[in-house]
Amino acid sequence: MIYLDNASTTRVYDDTVELMKKIYTTDFFNPSSTYKEGIEVKKLLTTSRETIAKHFSCLPSEIYFTSCATEANNWIINSGFKNKKGNIVISSGEHACVYECAKNLKNKGLDVRFAKLLPSGAIDLDDLLSKIDDNTCLISVIHASNETGIINDLPKISYSVKHKNPKIIIHSDGVQAFLKTTNDVKQLGVDAYSISGHKIGAPKGVGAVYVSSKIKLQPFIYGGGQESGQRSGTENVAGICGLANSVKIFSKNAINSNVKQIKEFAFNSLSDIDDIEILGKNAPATDYIIAFYALNTKAEILQTMCANDGVLIGRGSACSSRHSGNRVLSELGLTQKQIDGALRISFCPETTMEEVKFALDIITKNIKKLREHKIG
Ligand code: PLP
Repeated sequence: MIYLDNASTTRVYDDTVELMKKIYTTDFFNPSSTYKEGIEVKKLLTTSRETIAKHFSCLPSEIYFTSCATEANNWIINSGFKNKKGNIVISSGEHACVYECAKNLKNKGLDVRFAKLLPSGAIDLDDLLSKIDDNTCLISVIHASNETGIINDLPKISYSVKHKNPKIIIHSDGVQAFLKTTNDVKQLGVDAYSISGHKIGAPKGVGAVYVSSKIKLQPFIYGGGQESGQRSGTENVAGICGLANSVKIFSKNAINSNVKQIKEFAFNSLSDIDDIEILGKNAPATDYIIAFYALNTKAEILQTMCANDGVLIGRGSACSSRHSGNRVLSELGLTQKQIDGALRISFCPETTMEEVKFALDIITKNIKKLREHKIG
């Protein structure tokens, strides 16, 4: 089987599984216990926090571990308003876990504004700036889109927003960008930045968020005071150590991978097929995602045909597969017919050129077959 749906989730690295097994069976003590064994486990958490902080170029005390990026994003968005006053501005290109959270606040009567996207898939900065004012508390702009892979220019966005109102908290969902482009939070100019383990060879059920020490958020979960009192609950030690271990492996493998050439190859092969449009092709994008629509096909059928031929590819965000339509692609101005034919191929550092060549032969063959039989 060839797996090209890594933006949806990734296989956990064997080394990480081994490490986690050891934690579950040998180093299983509660990190809050004050005997030697507990203290040793607490040190594992400290080292993991340091590993993540190194990738953000921030202080370890600015990293909070969560159960997933959805949780981290909900925490930040829900903390956006101060005493329910002011407004927050969210990009329309956000993953459902930011967008739906913001929509819920709006439904409760809070002032939530949505900034448009450009046809390229990037945020419309002029529209964003027109929506912020002296009362804006927070903005949220995804770093790399899970739908198209395009990268928003966070340094420019941050500079322009802070120029207008320096008090605004800038949050970015970094799930699809983490280890795939720069994540130095100072360079990016963000105050909060969320990541997820299962997109980078770590297990599902663990995430982390950078929160600048300059901003004060309400605790997310009250209880025993873990995570500096911000997110109580006994830490998922194995998951957190697994996350840190996979960060090291992924980043090392990413340096040695030829994902850039792989994406270029995929881009050229897809461009050779008639009536195909590659999404976000005119904007900077991550090397790890290529999204496209093939006219006169149905993505759902194409995906199944490819799966039957041993090639797994995605259809936009797996998390939004429960919702009909595709909010982000509609926002880009795609028609329903175009959206119906939209697919996403996504890589990991270990993806090989041979796999992608094989997959593209299968995709090309099935697009032709679908069109010949006028299915779709
Ligand atoms: N944000 C983006 C951009 C994603 O792609 C995803 C997962 O698809 C998430 C957030 C949610 O991450 P998690 O599964 O860790 O909650």
